[in-house]
Amino acid sequence: MTQSNERCSSRLILVLGDQLSQNLSALSQAEKARDTVLMAEVADEAGYVPHHKKKIAFVFSAMRHFADELGAAGWQVRYVRLDHPDNTGSITGEIARAIADLSITNVQVTEPGEYRLQTALLEWADQSQTDLHMLEDDRFVATHQEFRNWADGRKQLRMEYFYREMRRKTGLLMNGDQPEGGRWNFDAENRKPATADLFMPRPPRSDPDDITTEVLSLVETQFGDNFGQLRPFWFEVTRAGALEALDHFVEHALPLFGDHQDAMLQAEPFLYHSVLSHYLNAGLLGPMEICRQVERAYYEGRAPLNAVEGFIRQIIGWREYVRGLYWLNMPGYTERNHFGATRQLPDFYWTAKTEMACMAAAIGQTRDHAYAHHIQRLMVTGNFAMLAGVDPHEVHEWYLAVYADAYEWVEAPNVIGMSQFADGGLLGSKPYAASGNYINKMSDHCSHCRYDVKRKFGANACPFNPLYWDFLARNADKLRGNPRLGHAYRTWDRMDPEKQAQYRDSAREILDSL
Ligand SMILES: Cc1cc2nc3c(=O)[nH]c(=O)nc-3n(C[C@H](O)[C@H](O)[C@H](O)COP(=O)(O)OP(=O)(O)OC[C@H]3O[C@@H](n4cnc5c(N)ncnc54)[C@H](O)[C@@H]3O)c2cc1C
Ligand code: SF4
Repeated sequence: MTQSNERCSSRLILVLGDQLSQNLSALSQAEKARDTVLMAEVADEAGYVPHHKKKIAFVFSAMRHFADELGAAGWQVRYVRLDHPDNTGSITGEIARAIADLSITNVQVTEPGEYRLQTALLEWADQSQTDLHMLEDDRFVATHQEFRNWADGRKQLRMEYFYREMRRKTGLLMNGDQPEGGRWNFDAENRKPATADLFMPRPPRSDPDDITTEVLSLVETQFGDNFGQLRPFWFEVTRAGALEALDHFVEHALPLFGDHQDAMLQAEPFLYHSVLSHYLNAGLLGPMEICRQVERAYYEGRAPLNAVEGFIRQIIGWREYVRGLYWLNMPGYTERNHFGATRQLPDFYWTAKTEMACMAAAIGQTRDHAYAHHIQRLMVTGNFAMLAGVDPHEVHEWYLAVYADAYEWVEAPNVIGMSQFADGGLLGSKPYAASGNYINKMSDHCSHCRYDVKRKFGANACPFNPLYWDFLARNADKLRGNPRLGHAYRTWDRMDPEKQAQYRDSAREILDSL
């Protein structure tokens, strides 16, 4: 990274596909009259994992709309489409082409969110001796330095304590230095299951305009074999549309967001979730504007504290915490494999063809919408992969590919850390391992399933049951000392050895059949 001193010559301002914010640092420190904005759809970014078709369409369409908005606001924009005959296929190739065409020597960019791309840009600048000015991404609540300072010297990092810092920093739901309602966290009230007769406020759906229609044809032609249903395509692709989706969430879903946050229903992919993460991660919305609007709903009596606190915690707590953890541990974090798991990802993660109703629902919704809510990602598909001993890197690549909100900085800590415990406990204090009982309590899936959730092992037993005990037995050397698993290991130790063997035989049969 070099600091540009030549303030009077024109610069190339690179804007990446997840930097679609008018207040981006690279833009706010540029000059419309003099600088040129470069945006490029490139094969490398569209193909480093086999992204869901809807995700590619969303990013390209949102980029094209954003480029038009920049143009209307007076910026000179060089926009390179994926099918432009001279497109080199990489971000660095497109910068090189642009600086040659425009006789520019200085490049300015807001730091990429992913380590991979940040390194590629810095290495390229070094090799080509280009003056690259990389600015901090200030669209987050915590800076890198603040997170490092907070983490420094702590034996264990835990989101809850970081979250309290972020509450103090932002003043969200604070009365002076005390949390609103006298508690920092109202999660104990947020674990209710849902029933199918509740009113479900589905996210708003936009019809594709001409730009999106053109992008959909491109995706169909170029990425037709990728995972996922492209149509119906209903995502918002502009900031105005994303703001409408935010208003819709706050008005219709937020009041019950907390109560049913962990619930799952076979026919309801969205329940009371916001479905805003892909807008937020692409830059169409900012974290603080979302949180302020949600906080306002509480103070105006339109949403209860358990919902509002729970929602704000996801954004200024979890989202900021996983970003901090990612940058603290890269490179190398995505290669972590605490349990030494080596199994290939089962094929049904790409087809949804499985008789496990919970898995079929989570994967089917992912295929249809490039979306699944948190508990589906964590306690269904993630839980199964961990119990089955799937290689965490394969799991990571699947999650990175299939969700519209997936960028490595947020996806990897959630997958490698939270859902697979492959980081050995850097992110969380225990693995999120659960038997079928948890899924049955929180969902209606088991009543649609050919397996029997009450059966512990043998034919027709819910596969999560033997796999759960097999996972604990298999990894006892790594987990037995974890105080949060003390109860589970005591139960296992008290179990009749014959019963233990039945669990393990049953698990082996399931694993052999994958
Ligand atoms: C295995 C796994 C993989 C995940 N991969 C991603 C990913 O690639 N991208 C992503 O944005 N989130 C990811 N998450 C976190 C979370 O599942 C999604 O943010 C959420 O499901 C998005 O849906 P929503 O907008 O309806 O969220 P809501 O339930 O309405 O939550 C509100 C917002 O809080 C934020 N949020 C909530 N939980 C988290 C979290 N654990 N980490 C970061 N932000 C959070 C999101 O911005 C979200 O929009 C993952 C979680 C797990 C367990
Ligand atoms: S019985 Fe088991 S596999 Fe079937 S839906 Fe319930 S938890 Fe999932």
